[in-house]
Amino acid sequence: MKVAIAKEVEAGERRVALIPDAVAKLVKQGIEVLVEAGAGEQSFFSDIAYEAVGAKIVADTAALWGEADVVLKIGALQESEIHQLREGSVFIGFLNPLGNPALVQRLAERQVTAFSMEMIPRTSRAQSMDALSSQANVAGYKAVLIAAASLPKYFPMLTTAAGTIRPAKVLVMGAGVAGLQAIATARRLGAVVEAFDIRPDVKEQVQSLGAKFIDVELKEETVAAGGYAKELSEASKQYTREVLTQHVGASDAVITTAQVPGRKAPVLVTREMVAQMKPGSVIVDLAAEQGGNCECTEPGKDVLWNGVTVIGPINLPSSMPVHASETYSKNISALLQLMVKDKALNLNFEDDIITGACVAHSGEIRNQRVREALGITAQPSAVS
Ligand code: NAD
Repeated sequence: MKVAIAKEVEAGERRVALIPDAVAKLVKQGIEVLVEAGAGEQSFFSDIAYEAVGAKIVADTAALWGEADVVLKIGALQESEIHQLREGSVFIGFLNPLGNPALVQRLAERQVTAFSMEMIPRTSRAQSMDALSSQANVAGYKAVLIAAASLPKYFPMLTTAAGTIRPAKVLVMGAGVAGLQAIATARRLGAVVEAFDIRPDVKEQVQSLGAKFIDVELKEETVAAGGYAKELSEASKQYTREVLTQHVGASDAVITTAQVPGRKAPVLVTREMVAQMKPGSVIVDLAAEQGGNCECTEPGKDVLWNGVTVIGPINLPSSMPVHASETYSKNISALLQLMVKDKALNLNFEDDIITGACVAHSGEIRNQRVREALGITAQPSAVS
C-alpha cells in the first residue's frame, strides 16, 4: 500500500498533512510512503527528514498522485488536482463538502473514495482524529495573539512606578473549540474575559477557564443533533445583538468564532455596535472566511472602522504550521490506523467513523446532506 503526502498548492498554505514522526510509524508497519519534494518545507520538515525515516521523495507530481493508493492533504483540494487522482484511489483531507458539494460530485465521478476531515464524527472514540478541533485550537490561540499585538494597550494589569494599568477587557463570542482556546489564551495574558455562546452547556466550561459567561435567555432550541449550534430565528438574533451591544462597547478586544456548520456565519457584531467601541479597540473575526461574524469584516484584510481595527484572518492554522501540521498529522495517523490491515487498505463501512467521514465511494456521493445540496434524491447503494 502506497500513501502519498501531496505538496500543498493553495496560496498561503504552509502546513503539511503528515510529519516525519508519523511517517516513521507507517514505514515500520510496512506501508510505503511517498512525499512530494518540498511538501514539508514551509512547515520546516525537510525532504532529508522524511527520507531519514524511510519515505521516498518524489519530484514528479503526476507520478506521485497517479501511483498512490491514498493521497493526503490538509489545504483545500484544487480543481486542478482532481484529475491527477487515480480512479479507485482514496483521498483524505478537508473538503468543505457542505460549502462545496460540487467538488464531492467531481470526486465521485472520478471514482475516488473521498474522506472529509470535517465529517469525522464528534464522538469520544473519534477524538484523536478530530482535525476540526486540532486546527480550531491553533486558530483560537493565534487570534488572541493577533488581538494583543494589534491593541495599543497592555493585556495584563500592571502595577508600576509610572502608575497602575488596568487589564484589557476581552469578549469572546462563540465558545466552541476555538473560542475556549481564545478564552484560555487571553486569560493567560492577563485580560479580563467575558464570553457568549447560544449553547447553554458551555457556560460551565467558560467559567472554569476564569471568564464570565454572558447569559442571554433565548426562547428557542439552540442545539442541533451532534451538539452543534442551530441557526437562530431573526427575532433571537436581534435580541442577542441588543444584549451584546453594551458588552461589545465596553470591550478592548472582541474575538468572534461563531459558526453554524454548513451555513453562512451569523452576524453578531453590527456596524452600529462597532461604532460604540472605543477608538483603538480591535476585533478579530475568525469566521471571516464564512462571511464573518462582524458586518465590517473583510476576509484577509485589516480594516479601520471609526478607529476600530477589524481583522479578518484567513487560514490562521497555516500561520503556525509546525504545531498545526503536527496535530493534523496525529489526526490523520489515527484515521489511517482504522483503514489499514496487514499492510493493505481495508475500509470497513460498518465502522461509524469510516461511514461518517466518507463522502464519495464507488461513483456515489455517500453523505446525505451533500446529496440534498446537489438535489440528488436517490439513495446510494449499500457498501460493505
Ligand atoms: P463551531 O466551529 O461549529 O462553532 C463555534 C461556536 O459558535 C459553537 O460553540 C457554537 O455554539 C457557536 N455559535 C453558533 N451560532 C452562534 C451564535 N449565533 N451566537 C453565539 N455563538 C454561536 O463549533 P466547534 O468548536 O467545532 O464545536 C461544536 C460542537 O462540537 C460543540 O458542542 C463541541 O463541544 C462539540 N465537540 C465535540 C467533540 C467530541 O466530542 N469529540 C470535539 C470537539 C467539539
